[in-house]
Amino acid sequence: MTLTYGERLKNALAREHAKCFDPATKALRPEFAQHIDCPVCDSPRKELFFEKDWFTFSRCLDCSMVYLDPRLNDRATYEFYNGEWNAIYNETKFDDVAEPSPLDDRLNEENLREIIRFRRSARGNLLEIGSAKGFFLRKASEAGFTVHGLELNERNCERTRRDLGPTILNTDLSSAKFAAETFDVVYMRDVFEHVPNPKTMLKEIARIARPGCVVFVEVPNIRGIIYRLVGARHVCVFGFEHLNYWSAATLGLVLRRCGFEVRRTTYQSLDFSLREVLRAYFTPAFTTLHPPPTRKGVERIFRMLDRLWSREPLNSWDRRMAPALANCLRAGSVVRVLAEKT
Ligand SMILES: [Zn+2]
Repeated sequence: MTLTYGERLKNALAREHAKCFDPATKALRPEFAQHIDCPVCDSPRKELFFEKDWFTFSRCLDCSMVYLDPRLNDRATYEFYNGEWNAIYNETKFDDVAEPSPLDDRLNEENLREIIRFRRSARGNLLEIGSAKGFFLRKASEAGFTVHGLELNERNCERTRRDLGPTILNTDLSSAKFAAETFDVVYMRDVFEHVPNPKTMLKEIARIARPGCVVFVEVPNIRGIIYRLVGARHVCVFGFEHLNYWSAATLGLVLRRCGFEVRRTTYQSLDFSLREVLRAYFTPAFTTLHPPPTRKGVERIFRMLDRLWSREPLNSWDRRMAPALANCLRAGSVVRVLAEKT
């Protein structure tokens, strides 16, 4: 019997989960676990924020940061990124993708425009950490920047290097050992939520940043409306990879502590609509093994509403109005912060 892509992904996740968790305690096996205090303010004071597939997420009582604790230690994390689940996930995320989607293009262009508008220039050294296939860097290069990239996936790195040259490196930030005050722009999209030691990383960025350097960070916003409505059901709540759950407040705090000041905060809510919220209650995300049960009556009503809302013009209205409302309330699903080295 041939398994579907979704079944292969789920089976691989189940095997990774069984390897890391002890079913007797429903906790990470001690040899894979690392306990931490708040990664922003170092406070040990925390409360349980939510749970998912036996991972526990805490909220700092001092600065409101939401973070995974305990989390996988370095060895287990390395094994997960290089394991079976990621290999299957990358088939669609990276391996089969030769060109950016129109949506990806639009988001990259928006972010680049924002950076250029703020700096009033598209000149200088721009570094992307986690440059993936180099779609953003290609646009930045076309705009006039001298581009540099760090990408841990060897195939992606090779590909981007062929396109953009030898300044694309297959290494992490600490090993790259850039000279002090090298960069005018540092860009991270969908990366900072994966970083185990965000302050260490930002301090290294501050070292290699020229005075006035712009740091642009885009991450899921845990204070977004969608997280308030669907909680841990959201696809981005994923203990194997997403360690830190940022908001505009906690991002601002950590940046300030590391020598940057936030100049612009914007939001994007492409995944937020009434239908997405309804569907979260009867279509489990691919990042979960044991979704919380939904009461049968509730599921029936939500499915009915989903069918109703799939009709026009309700569907288009929902897709347009819900994100606009979330962004306007500063509760978008994704927060983008532009900060400047002070
Ligand atoms: Zn804290």
